[in-house]
Amino acid sequence: MSRSLSLSLQERERVETLIGEASRTLRGCLVYPEPYPKVGFRSRSEGLHRLACALNQPLREGELVLHECDEPRCVSPAHLRPGTHEENMADIARKNRLQLRRLDLSLPRTRIVAARRKGP
Ligand SMILES: [Zn+2]
Repeated sequence: MSRSLSLSLQERERVETLIGEASRTLRGCLVYPEPYPKVGFRSRSEGLHRLACALNQPLREGELVLHECDEPRCVSPAHLRPGTHEENMADIARKNRLQLRRLDLSLPRTRIVAARRKGP
């Protein structure tokens, strides 16, 4: 389970430096090459997105960090918010529904193409 997390002034500066090394995308995300980048922190490994979120507010025990931008490589504090496991699951379910709707929209077009192929 995730521990509570509150940053000292020195740690905040270090996290800000690490965030500064990310690349900015057109959507305003600050991304690392890999999703959920990990950094050494208090002699263990911690997700940089968690540390970035803790810049906004301390994380409580058991709290997860959710990406508002849906970009798992993003470490922008503006795109991160603390949330519970339940919120995370609800988020995933909502996104899956959106994706299904998009697939539905693309169906008629597939049928049109198939119909044309069958034509005279
Ligand atoms: Zn982002």
